[in-house]
Amino acid sequence: MSVVGFDLGFQSCYVAVARAGGIETVANEYSDRCTPSFVSFGPRNRSIGAAAKSQVVTNCQNTVQGFKRFHGRAFTDPYIQSVKSNLVYDLAQMPSGSTGIKVMYMEEEKVFSIEQVTGMLLTKLKETAESALKKPVADCVISVPSYFTDGERRSVMDAAQIAGLNCLRLMNETTAVTLAYGIYKQDLPAPEEKPRIVVFVDLGHSGYQVSVCAFNKGKLKILATAFDSELGGKGFDDILVNHFCEEFGKKYKLDVRSKPRALVRLYQECEKLKKLMSANSSDLPLNIECFMNDIDVSGKLNRGQFEEMCAGLLAKVEGPLRSVMEQTKLKKEDIYAVEIVGGASRIPSLKERISKFFGKELSTTLNADEAVARGCALQVQEFGLFSITDVVPYSISLKWNSAAEEGVSDCEVFPKNHAAPFSKVLTFFRKEPFTLEAYYSNSKELPYPNCSLGQFLIKNVVPQASGESAKVKVKVRVNVHGVFSVSNASLVEVLKTAEEEEPMETDQTAKEEEEVCTVCTVFARGRKRVMALGQTERQRNTETTTDDAKQEKKNDQPPQAKKPKVKTKTVELPIENNLHWQLSTDVLNMCVENEGKMIMQDKLEKERNDAKNNVEEYVYEMRDKLHGVLEKFVNEADRDTFSLKLEDTENWLYEDGEDQHKQVYVDKLAELKKMGQPIHERYMEAEERPKAFEELGRQIQLYMKIIEAYKAKVTWHREQVTRVDKQVNDAMAWMNSKMNQQNSQDLTLEPVVKVGEIQAKTKELYSTCNPVVSKPKPKVEPPKEEKTENGPVNGQEGTESQPCNPDKATSAGTEKGTAENKLPEMDID
Ligand code: ATP
Ligand code: MG
Repeated sequence: MSVVGFDLGFQSCYVAVARAGGIETVANEYSDRCTPSFVSFGPRNRSIGAAAKSQVVTNCQNTVQGFKRFHGRAFTDPYIQSVKSNLVYDLAQMPSGSTGIKVMYMEEEKVFSIEQVTGMLLTKLKETAESALKKPVADCVISVPSYFTDGERRSVMDAAQIAGLNCLRLMNETTAVTLAYGIYKQDLPAPEEKPRIVVFVDLGHSGYQVSVCAFNKGKLKILATAFDSELGGKGFDDILVNHFCEEFGKKYKLDVRSKPRALVRLYQECEKLKKLMSANSSDLPLNIECFMNDIDVSGKLNRGQFEEMCAGLLAKVEGPLRSVMEQTKLKKEDIYAVEIVGGASRIPSLKERISKFFGKELSTTLNADEAVARGCALQVQEFGLFSITDVVPYSISLKWNSAAEEGVSDCEVFPKNHAAPFSKVLTFFRKEPFTLEAYYSNSKELPYPNCSLGQFLIKNVVPQASGESAKVKVKVRVNVHGVFSVSNASLVEVLKTAEEEEPMETDQTAKEEEEVCTVCTVFARGRKRVMALGQTERQRNTETTTDDAKQEKKNDQPPQAKKPKVKTKTVELPIENNLHWQLSTDVLNMCVENEGKMIMQDKLEKERNDAKNNVEEYVYEMRDKLHGVLEKFVNEADRDTFSLKLEDTENWLYEDGEDQHKQVYVDKLAELKKMGQPIHERYMEAEERPKAFEELGRQIQLYMKIIEAYKAKVTWHREQVTRVDKQVNDAMAWMNSKMNQQNSQDLTLEPVVKVGEIQAKTKELYSTCNPVVSKPKPKVEPPKEEKTENGPVNGQEGTESQPCNPDKATSAGTEKGTAENKLPEMDID
């Protein structure tokens, strides 16, 4: 199975596949590589992508778009509440409290969860990939903004599952871009050299992302990321729409926002205007005919005015740039290049500001629209082993109730920009089950009011046999999707030894860890002490850690005390996850099932529509042809009846036949074909007949020539040659008689002879005559000199005049060199 990369954009999506040793962005059924992120609901089916976008004006309240940022958010979230009033479709609260979309589908009011809606879009992208690859697709890499929180990421993962996709990795959009940039670079510094630092900027429709990446040969490491989730192409559209709403309000007394359809049209026109302004600085018109209440509206704007209006937005460009520079403590001279991607990176004033900030020309070596999808597809390819180290976007802490009831304790487990994916092991001393709550420690960093990631209950914890607290090792992890989890918990049981010794800690972490890990021991009293640190952070942290528990312990020991080793047994502990906005398995399964039903419904509806279109097409085709190529092949009375029937059908299609079951259309087409097919067949016969006769005639002539030559010179195989002679003469007689009969037959009647019969005759002639004329001469060696003197029969050279197998070729000479076309082997000397 192939692995596919999906760029799930706010406005549009791209699909990239690995094919023929390279990466290719594939086109959808409209031959467009860009698939709009739109889903439209109708009385009989859904439309997704370009088909949905085309309904955004006519079916605006049931055509959803701009839903990427609804993932992992409560309905009451301020973001949802603020965008709600600007949407032309309805949002609703799901039973879980998350955000749903309310539409009319199949003539009923339905609320779909955001996971379902994105699942629908992914279904479309999956189909696009499947039709390009001509095989089923399941494994994929999906992009998400680097600023997506755990809730948002898990929600996208659920959507993938609903679409029947197996998401191997959620990849940060800017990280996908860094990979697309770095993987083909041949001149990256060697691993031990100073890395090449490149800044990546993605300006999409909804957001603005910046990341700094350090490249060495075969690897990339993200150093920092920053973003403004409100600075994107959409923000500029909003400003233009506001401007024209106001202008048209004054100029034409129109309240544009009261009419969703008009608002949607204005958005479309403003986006076009915005794009035009990227290329032109002169005054540009905005005209919309029959905009509202039959009024045509018009306005104009130029780039200078636009930039003035957008001054507030443009001022936000620098913030994230400054932020990454501060986070990485890099100087502008350290930056090798600033690479920009995303549709909105084409806005000149945005480019200027970024370029001015860094004091250098921007680099645009990547495809601004497709780089994310390509990076996702690259991730899964074995294009050498390119190692990717991403970062944790927000600091993550854990808190828990301390065992000694001293209140709540906490510990930051992953600071911002910590390498990801990454695992750490924490050690607790507990006598009973306990709960860990994960949360984002710095709420100011979040584009999101809810800081909690979820709770993790570590079950089945029991005291040691001695009654003391048991040692519980908890592995926490930020996985490849950038999602935090408590991936494993185990209880270390101390097995009794003969001397009943004091338990001593044995550090098994190196064996346990898949990746470089840090070990942090958390004592029962709730104070956090860092005990031992993994290789990468050891040096840096030992200096700052004054409360090093292991050190303390070591210092407590008499220098020569050699304790006998204590045996331990590790018992896996169950973990109960309570994650925010995570769909339950039951709900997820139901969504998967419903998606399957909706796919089936869309398929049935497509078949029904195709059946209807077939009737319509046949009516138009036949109406034209009846007075054209088919005219000669139908008598006047039949033609009038058929014409009338076609006209009736056309009317029916617009009336009773407008909305029928597939079978009704299939039957209707069959009924029309019953009248039309014989006429069409007579026409086709008349078209093909001359060629068939010509082919038969040619074969007959060739055999005749060969037989002439045999009769004159050959003394063996006499009987067979006579039989062939008869066959050829019979075929000639048959052909002449059929031709004569057909020539006197009216074209409006069934032909006397069918093309199929003529072809069968040709084939028969060949299969009876060819073996005889190709038969080798009996083994009587003729004198050598004589043989060379005799050329081919009738002076014919090569294969051109040889009879050929009618099964293999339609005319002689077209298949030179095939076995059938060889000169007959019979030596006619
Ligand atoms: P996101 O990355 O936020 O999820 P997306 O990936 O769908 O969104 P892109 O396709 O990168 O977004 O960019 C779309 C935005 O770029 C739209 O706002 C579009 O109007 C804008 N855009 C595209 N071409 C131009 C242009 N020539 N001038 C100005 N803006 C443009
Ligand atoms: Mg994008």
